Amino acid sequence: MGKPTGFMEFSRQERTYAPASDRISHYNEFVNGLDDAALSRQGARCMDCGIPFCHSGCPVSNVIPDWNDLVYKGRWKEALEALHATNNFPEFTGRICPAPCEAACTLNIDDVPVTIKTIECAIIDRAWEESWIQPQIPSRRTGKSVAVIGSGPAGMAAAQQLARAGHEVTVFEKNAKAGGLLRYGIPDFKLSKSLIDRRVAQMRAEGVEFRTKAHVGANVDAKELLKKFDAVLLAGGSESPRDLAVPGRELSGVHFAMDFLGQQNKRVGGEGFDDIDILATGKRVVVIGGGDTGSDCIGTSVRQQALSVVQIEILPKPPEKEDKALNWPKWPNKLRSSSSHEEGCERQWSVATQSFFGKNGKLQGLNAIKVDDKMQPIKGTEFVIKADLAFLAMGFVSPVKKGLLESLGVSLDQRGNVAADFDGFATSVSKLFAAGDMRRGQSLVVHAIREGRRAAAAIDSFLMGSTVLPR
Ligand SMILES: Cc1cc2nc3c(=O)[nH]c(=O)nc-3n(C[C@H](O)[C@H](O)[C@H](O)COP(=O)(O)OP(=O)(O)OC[C@H]3O[C@@H](n4cnc5c(N)ncnc54)[C@H](O)[C@@H]3O)c2cc1C
Ligand code: SF4
Repeated sequence: MGKPTGFMEFSRQERTYAPASDRISHYNEFVNGLDDAALSRQGARCMDCGIPFCHSGCPVSNVIPDWNDLVYKGRWKEALEALHATNNFPEFTGRICPAPCEAACTLNIDDVPVTIKTIECAIIDRAWEESWIQPQIPSRRTGKSVAVIGSGPAGMAAAQQLARAGHEVTVFEKNAKAGGLLRYGIPDFKLSKSLIDRRVAQMRAEGVEFRTKAHVGANVDAKELLKKFDAVLLAGGSESPRDLAVPGRELSGVHFAMDFLGQQNKRVGGEGFDDIDILATGKRVVVIGGGDTGSDCIGTSVRQQALSVVQIEILPKPPEKEDKALNWPKWPNKLRSSSSHEEGCERQWSVATQSFFGKNGKLQGLNAIKVDDKMQPIKGTEFVIKADLAFLAMGFVSPVKKGLLESLGVSLDQRGNVAADFDGFATSVSKLFAAGDMRRGQSLVVHAIREGRRAAAAIDSFLMGSTVLPR
């Protein structure tokens, strides 16, 4: 373990952010890491618990106490091996994971968990800087081929695992670049796209072929893929956004969040787009929805120099602090404020939108009302929020059915996701598997990576009769 008395000697120390006034002038990442001595002290805080609750909190089952100890002792290369044993892309999760491991950490009973995510990110960033990460080219080829549809974290993790098992892997991606929501949803200031490019280059060297602008079910025939490949993995994400069917929804200025966020990521990446620009510059913005997507709309609007940003959420304001006795080690419901919230926005809870209003087809604002804990409107609490732009950030309901899924005739579950269990990942169609948000519904990057890894093991087993790939 780290230092037996470390958790008593050293306080929790976290990465810091550049001041909001600086960081809102650009789209670059703005997190300042810790130096080696501080990281060693933070690693020393880990108690190597007999039952490491952090493990159960982590969806990819990271062996957290091991790499905490290795960082404490300065054995960085071994720490990298331990980290990569369970996660293909720790540089993504080290930046954008909400860190359920920290919520589950035993030291979180006192609100001072080990800085697991900071340590994870430091290990992987250092490994890239030191060129410790090289392509892992398989020593033998199986002669089997797999098509992966979708290049988000689920598709990328599955493709990398399958290529390392010796299969010939082709990734089909409808967009111009790989990465899924890592590329076109999550803003650059949270995750630099160069990190995805670097992994794609590594995967190419490992034998993965990426075919972009290949929209399966549109310009690529889905059934042909099933004929041509020995197995096909559906990893197309959950791309149908939840809409808000209220009067005035058709006004210009009301947009799905992803239409706004995707455009900005393309601008930063120097990629063109055909749609009309959606820009918050000089506008009053209202963001409807209080999750990650809503938060990203705030940070992006602020960087585009919006006049004002208001975020409304239909759920009540969560407590500032959770009841540890009831919650720990589970993920608690408590007030969370992102870096984007700090950059300037007004937040309101228990608010429902009754209608949008405008003039000459253009949005001018929305009619809102306060709701009770059961989300029922409270009479007499109606109010108006003036707005030129409204972003709908209320989550995603399911994968897109039209095209790919309809043409394959694959069975769906009750929520409209592709039906496949968490062990075999096999769908109702022979040779066809599903993973990530397309199977489990809208979720997190860390879950997508886990699904991709487990689905790769299931496919390898299906193709070869057994598998050595970790699950
Ligand atoms: C704005 C936003 C912010 C988020 N922030 C966070 C965060 O901070 N932390 C976190 O953990 N999670 C976050 N999430 C959630 C996370 O991004 C997703 O859970 C995760 O990316 C899902 O991975 P996936 O591989 O299953 O699907 P996706 O990332 O959605 O990738 C699916 C890919 O499949 C492609 N595709 C779909 N259909 C086809 C087809 N027919 N042919 C070819 N290609 C196809 C798509 O173009 C896409 O590239 C966020 C989500 C959004 C929308
Ligand atoms: S729960 Fe916290 S203290 Fe215990 S092993 Fe995990 S990281 Fe270390």
